[in-house]
Amino acid sequence: GETIGILGGGQLGRMIALAAAQLGYRCHIYAPESDSIAADVAAAFTRGSYDDEAALAAFAEGCAVVTYEFENVAAPPLAAILPHAPLHPPARALEVAQDRVNEKSFVEALGGRPAPWAQVDSRADLDAALARIGAPGILKTRRDGYDGKGQWRIMDASAAEAIELPGKPLIYEGFVTFFGEFSVILVRGIDGEIRFWDSAENVHEAGILARSTVPAPPAIVAQVPEARALAAKVAEALDYVGVLTLEFFATADGPVFNEMAPRVHNSGHWTTEGALTSQFENHVRAICGLPLGSTALAARGAVMDNLIGDAAHDWAAILSDPANHLHLYGKAAARPGRKMGHVTRLVL
Ligand code: ATP
Ligand code: MG
Ligand code: MG
Repeated sequence: GETIGILGGGQLGRMIALAAAQLGYRCHIYAPESDSIAADVAAAFTRGSYDDEAALAAFAEGCAVVTYEFENVAAPPLAAILPHAPLHPPARALEVAQDRVNEKSFVEALGGRPAPWAQVDSRADLDAALARIGAPGILKTRRDGYDGKGQWRIMDASAAEAIELPGKPLIYEGFVTFFGEFSVILVRGIDGEIRFWDSAENVHEAGILARSTVPAPPAIVAQVPEARALAAKVAEALDYVGVLTLEFFATADGPVFNEMAPRVHNSGHWTTEGALTSQFENHVRAICGLPLGSTALAARGAVMDNLIGDAAHDWAAILSDPANHLHLYGKAAARPGRKMGHVTRLVL
């Protein structure tokens, strides 16, 4: 079969590679780490830097198409891929999604509504942001944040004074009062067709996704059409191909945009068993120009729980329940806050 190149070596790449293998593709993983849980299930692995244009070009030469599972890859060097293979989703999607100022500006230009926000490059910027937006709020690094890393909650202006600014570009966001969080996950094909999975209600603990539940409660479901309309506009504006995720806060005033991820998403892991076609398979279908599969529910519902850190689990009990589907990522070492696997429990 043809080879799909994947930038990034984590569990999302691993699950894309597993879905690709089912469709007869080989996957070639490109990542900077020496060991990769995606490479463990792929046909080939190149250890390389995301900035090494020569290595990226050589990698792309052997690929029919290149995709990514990790958004904190600098976009400019990826131009080295394009003479050799198409890159789906496009590098522009990375540029927008990997920078919180870019993604909020982009979404606002399309009519979306994020929390009030301000770019913060200095102490004076932070003071001005607090004066305009008020507290509580969250100071975040513009780039490289995930699982709530690189974030400081500011309860009042005096608390802001105590924070030592990290010397990186930052953004300050007003704290959103929400009654729930949800995500819109869509797949867009090469021909522009868009399909949406049901939106899960997402519960975070300490900034990390803990649980996704489908169907979401009715008060969240009521906000999904507006959120989907925005997500479709984002996908079209980027000429996007593949799976795209937008995270939202469900508020009394309707959906408030949080952030986007130009990739398959943890809140879509339930689709592996809970939908007729998983996010991983539809991502592969989209980037390979194949017809998209149905995103309809395959059960009455699904609950996905992340397995985080080194918490003890009763594997026998989990596996003994026929509603449960266990996924372990094969990571060598558990660390606090590290995603080690997930369990999807179908509502049959
Ligand atoms: P991810 O792993 O989803 O990429 P991240 O590090 O980019 O996470 P965010 O999505 O910005 O982090 O924030 C993580 C969580 O923190 C959110 O899902 C939400 O629960 C809370 N949060 C973030 N920003 C705000 C806000 N402005 N108001 C209220 N809660 C917020
Ligand atoms: Mg994020
Ligand atoms: Mg998030």
